[in-house]
Amino acid sequence: MAVTLTANDVWAERRRRVAELRARQGFARQLLDFYGALLAVQEKAFQEAAAASPAAADLASYVAEVVVPSVVDVSLFAGPDRLRSEVIHRLETEHPLGMIERWIAGDEQPIVDRYLARAAVGPVLEALGAEARARCGGPRDARHCPACGGPPQLSYSASPMDDLATGPRFLACARCAASWGYPRLTCAGCGEDSSARLQIFSEHGTTSGERGSVVRGLPGDGAARRKDAVFPHMRIEACESCRRYILGIDLATDPAAVPLVDEMAAVPLDLYARERGFSKITTNLMGF
Ligand SMILES: [Zn+2]
Ligand SMILES: [Zn+2]
Repeated sequence: MAVTLTANDVWAERRRRVAELRARQGFARQLLDFYGALLAVQEKAFQEAAAASPAAADLASYVAEVVVPSVVDVSLFAGPDRLRSEVIHRLETEHPLGMIERWIAGDEQPIVDRYLARAAVGPVLEALGAEARARCGGPRDARHCPACGGPPQLSYSASPMDDLATGPRFLACARCAASWGYPRLTCAGCGEDSSARLQIFSEHGTTSGERGSVVRGLPGDGAARRKDAVFPHMRIEACESCRRYILGIDLATDPAAVPLVDEMAAVPLDLYARERGFSKITTNLMGF
C-alpha cells in the first residue's frame, strides 16, 4: 500500500537521512554537512513559495529575487572552496536570472550556473503546482519527467507488492523531484533493453537473475559480505550502448533510505562507474 507523505514530511525525511548517513558514512561527511545546510535553505524556500504562490509565469524572476540570495549565502558559508570561488566569480559577470532561465529551459550551462539554478529552482518547483512545472522545457517522453521534462537523477524501486519478487521501478526528476514509472532492466539514458548491453555493479555482487559485478575498493571493503556493505541497497545501472549510468536505490533492502539523499552521498559508486568509462546521465546537485 502506498504511503503518501505530506510536503513537510518530505523535508523532515531528507533531514533525518542526512543525519543518519553523516553518522554512518564518514567519507561523505563534508558533503553531507554542506548538503544539510543547503537543505535548510531549500526547505525555507519551499515553505515561502508555497505561501506566496507566485504565478507560474514569474517562476524565474521569483526564484532569482527571493531564493538565489540565500543559496549564494549558504554556498559561500558552507560550500567547498572551489565552489565558493566559482560562485563569486560567476556572480561578478552574470546576473542569476539568466542562469535560472536556462535551467528552466533545459539548456546546457556551466556547472556552477547549473548548481545555483538547480538548488534555487528545485524547492520552488516542488512547492508550486503542475502549471509551473509545465512551463519548463524538455521532452515529455518515457525518459524525462512527465511533469517538467527534466532528466532522471536516479532510479529507485519501491517495496515489493506481496505477490511480486521485486517492486516497481521509478525514475526521479533532477529538476522538480517528481517520480515516474519506468521498466526494469532498461537504460534510463537511451532505452536500451538488451540485457547483454546492460551492466549492474553492486557492492555485494550479482543480484539473482541479473548480471552484475562486485564493486571493489569501496570504503568498508574487504568484505563482500552483505552485512558489512556500505551500499547494500544501491547499485550502478550502466549501459554499454550509450556508455552512461544511473544509480539505483532499492527501498526494499533499506526502507529508511531517501533516494535523493542516498544518491547524493554515494560518491564511491560514482567514482567506480567513472573509472570504468561511464558518465552519469545527470550529475547531481553536488556535482557527482
Ligand atoms: Zn520534473
Ligand atoms: Zn543507454
